Formats: sequence, structure tokens, C-alpha cells
Amino acid sequence: MPPTPPPPPAWPLPKFNIRIEDLAHPGADLFLDNVKPLAALRAAVLASFEWLYATPGNAPTNVELIQLVLRPMDGVAYTFGSASQKEIHMSLDHIVNNSSRAREEIMGVLVHEVVHCYQYNANGSAPGGLIEGVADFVRLHADLAPPHWSRSPSPSDKWDSGYERTAYFLDWIEERQGKGTILALNAAMREKDYDESLFVELAGEPVRDLWKRYKAQFGVADEEPEEKTEGEGEECYVLVRPYNPVYI
Ligand SMILES: [Zn+2]
Repeated sequence: MPPTPPPPPAWPLPKFNIRIEDLAHPGADLFLDNVKPLAALRAAVLASFEWLYATPGNAPTNVELIQLVLRPMDGVAYTFGSASQKEIHMSLDHIVNNSSRAREEIMGVLVHEVVHCYQYNANGSAPGGLIEGVADFVRLHADLAPPHWSRSPSPSDKWDSGYERTAYFLDWIEERQGKGTILALNAAMREKDYDESLFVELAGEPVRDLWKRYKAQFGVADEEPEEKTEGEGEECYVLVRPYNPVYI
């Protein structure tokens, strides 16, 4: 008999923990009625691995623990921690505010935050909007885009406005250049400091030219403001930063 082939390598899943800080909060019941915590966290990690690393051998192995904390708070969610220990805080109030589609919103936010546990950030030098765009790119590809997201940019939007604005732009680049382009973008930010020329290497043009071309598709004029109005009018996952969070 031929020897049995070895099993395929497994994804390096971390240990998971959950803490619910107010079980009497209606958001706690909504969470537990709609998702199984372990399965939800595993699915979020696997979505991050699939879209940023593709195969188990490429996935980072530094994350040993992801702790999910559900608690009443303003905002949506945030992530912080060390290279090996990550903590995601998610708002129970936000879950209640999205009760009609609680499962999709919980999973979408979990995927976004778990991407922050695994994505590369060019030694902290990558633009914040790009980091948030990559997180929502994975959320988009996990079929968890919320109904209010719009693909069409506004005239004043920048390529690194972040969140879904940047996610749809990255998705357009991925479509043009082929699956794996955003994976390669993430990989290019593994050890080197950020350099905008990586868009030329991966997509053939400076990022500003790509953005103009992208906007033109929607018939949107390029009226990018000189001064960045950070955060204004943007949905923000990170509204509370009590512990000096680190997004790596
Ligand atoms: Zn984020």
C-alpha cells in the first residue's frame, strides 16, 4: 500500500477567550442568540488568513491569544495588544443598534477587527486609511458589507479616506490586477517602511493616478481637498482609545 499522504498544514489559529461585561445588557443576549463565539472568532481569523495570506505557510504565527470583550460603550469596536496577545472590544450598544441584522453586523465588525490582529503595517508607517481600507476589503470579500456601504466615491474623497471608501478602491485594483494583489500589498508592508511606489509595482501606476481613474468611472470629479479632514463624516470603528491601542 502506498504511504498515506501527510495531512495538509493547518492554519495557525490562536487561543480564543470571551468576556462579557454586562450579561444583563440586551446586546449580550443578541450576541449569544446570533453567533457561537468560538465559531465566529475562528471564521473571522480564517477570513483574514484567506484574503491576506492564502495558504497556512504564509500566515503569521505570532498571535497566541485573541480575547473578545463585549461591553457597553460608545462607538463600534477597537483592537489593541502586543504581538502575541490581542484584545478586541466590541460595543454591546452597537449590537442593539443593529439588532435587525445582528449576525451580519457582529461578523462584519469581528472580521474587520481580527484583520487588525494579523495585517502588516509597514512598521507602523502605513497610512491609517490604508490599514482601515485593508480591514474593510477583507470584510467586503467575506460578504459582510453592511447595506449602507456605497461603492461610489464623493468628489472630496481621497484614496486613503479609509474604511469602505478605500476598501472598494482596493477591490477595483484587485479586479484589474488579479486575485492576490491586495495580499501582495499586505506582504509588501511586512518589514519595509511604507513607500507609495509599491502601488506602481503592484498596479502599474502611482496611486493618485489610479484613484483618478477609479473616480472617473463613477463620473465623479477629482476635487480632493488639500487639507485632510480626517474622520469627518466617516463611519469609525475606533472611537474610544483608552489603552493606547496598537494595530498590528
Ligand atoms: Zn479598524
